[in-house]
Amino acid sequence: MKLYFGGPIITMEEPLIAESIVFDKKIHFAGDFKKAKEKFPEAVPIDLKGKTLLPGFIDTHAHLSFAGEMVTQASVFHCTSIDEVLNIISKEVEKLGEQDVLFINGYAGMPIAEARNLTLEEMDNVVPNHPLILRTASTHGTLVNSRALNLIEKEMAAIELFLDEEDRKEGYLRNEANLFAFGMAPKWMNEEQKRIAREAIFNSCLRNGIVSVHSLEGRNQKEDPDILYWIKQKGKTPFDVRIFYQTTDVDEVLRLGLKQIGGCFHCLLDGDLDPGTAAFREPYVNNSNNYGVLYFTDEDLEKFFTKAHLADLQICMHAIGDRAIEQALHAYEKVLKKYPKKAHRHRIEHFEVCAQDLIEKAKKLGIVLAMQPVFDYYWPYENYKFYIGEERAKKKCALRPILDAGIPVGGGSDWPVTEMNPFLGIHGAVNHSVPSSRISVLEALRLYTVDAAFLGFEENLRGSLKAGKEADFVIVSDNPLSIEKKSLEKIQVLETIFQGNSVWKK
Ligand SMILES: [Zn+2]
Repeated sequence: MKLYFGGPIITMEEPLIAESIVFDKKIHFAGDFKKAKEKFPEAVPIDLKGKTLLPGFIDTHAHLSFAGEMVTQASVFHCTSIDEVLNIISKEVEKLGEQDVLFINGYAGMPIAEARNLTLEEMDNVVPNHPLILRTASTHGTLVNSRALNLIEKEMAAIELFLDEEDRKEGYLRNEANLFAFGMAPKWMNEEQKRIAREAIFNSCLRNGIVSVHSLEGRNQKEDPDILYWIKQKGKTPFDVRIFYQTTDVDEVLRLGLKQIGGCFHCLLDGDLDPGTAAFREPYVNNSNNYGVLYFTDEDLEKFFTKAHLADLQICMHAIGDRAIEQALHAYEKVLKKYPKKAHRHRIEHFEVCAQDLIEKAKKLGIVLAMQPVFDYYWPYENYKFYIGEERAKKKCALRPILDAGIPVGGGSDWPVTEMNPFLGIHGAVNHSVPSSRISVLEALRLYTVDAAFLGFEENLRGSLKAGKEADFVIVSDNPLSIEKKSLEKIQVLETIFQGNSVWKK
């Protein structure tokens, strides 16, 4: 048994600050130092020396397997010409084993001077003997050479999917074929790539003080290798993983004994702003004919929600624009009217650009939100103006009105979209680019602790420091409640403790 003292201990309970905390695998006591020593004389005292102790962080939206895989690949994100891209690819070819598939990501992350994709011929010339999978930075398309085309075509045929003629001619996979190519990656990575990917995942969670991740997994609708991996790892990892299977196949999720369904990939209600696919009620200002794209019909969505809801699964769906958010709420409303249930905690992911009527409706229906204030840290509202104009852009990540409505919100990174550091999200929420959306530091901490726990049905396990909960903590360099607000991003995680064991130290 151990006793921490000598620094601010932020409990996220009443009272907010404790002098000491006593724990082994679980927390036994949080409060007065003298009382702790009296009650637990055998506990070994450890001096925090002024450092701050907080509940371990929860990331409510990450894609662990996908992010880990990206780390193992070369990137052409910063290339600005076709020659530069081909140059990087040819260097990667030299490292390949005989049976390897070459994965590269980030195509057209920066504008390419020639303003076009690689041709099939260019790809075949630079990678003649291996399959090449070259992902675009937006992830909405994949460039492939002839070897990869053949491989993908064969796999697709097995489930009666067929390549579009144009896709085959250009070596550029769109829509369903693009999603399919993503799904093949875990099968085609070699053992060494898999090992590096896992190491990157563990490292990313631990050094950022993450003790629980809601990981949106699965690129195949059935028998996904990533999902099977995490199921096998249950209880063996130095952090908890809640698996959200990104499928609409309710029976498959039940067969695997999972409790959560949905996410991004196959569960996108709309796309994103820069490809013009985020769905809005009013048209884009840079293209007055474009309202974005809804990937589900109302009927299909309602059917899926009904089946998942009746199976007692927690549902979560990606929605960026107000029309996609409205579609989700409308479908939830229909299902909940027919089959009322109080503690469903169905979610909407991102809830990025909304309006007051939608906030009120979400509250009424008991919907909870997994949001990413870190997006505002990187992409302030000014970045959205080009697409949707000033007024709507100012409604992005509207934390203040959402919290005022009383909706539980969890914070997340959407890793690999951003890194898993919660202090970047806390910084983004407190220093929001739209002043009327800013929230307090304590509220921002809640997004990654107590309220995040609520989103994952894990509030009895973690999220605050209270006797009976797991001993999951982080020790950090500065007290977020007293540091200058503009410096929140600089706070560093010094140690991560999971179930009473130190699992990472700076
Ligand atoms: Zn996502």
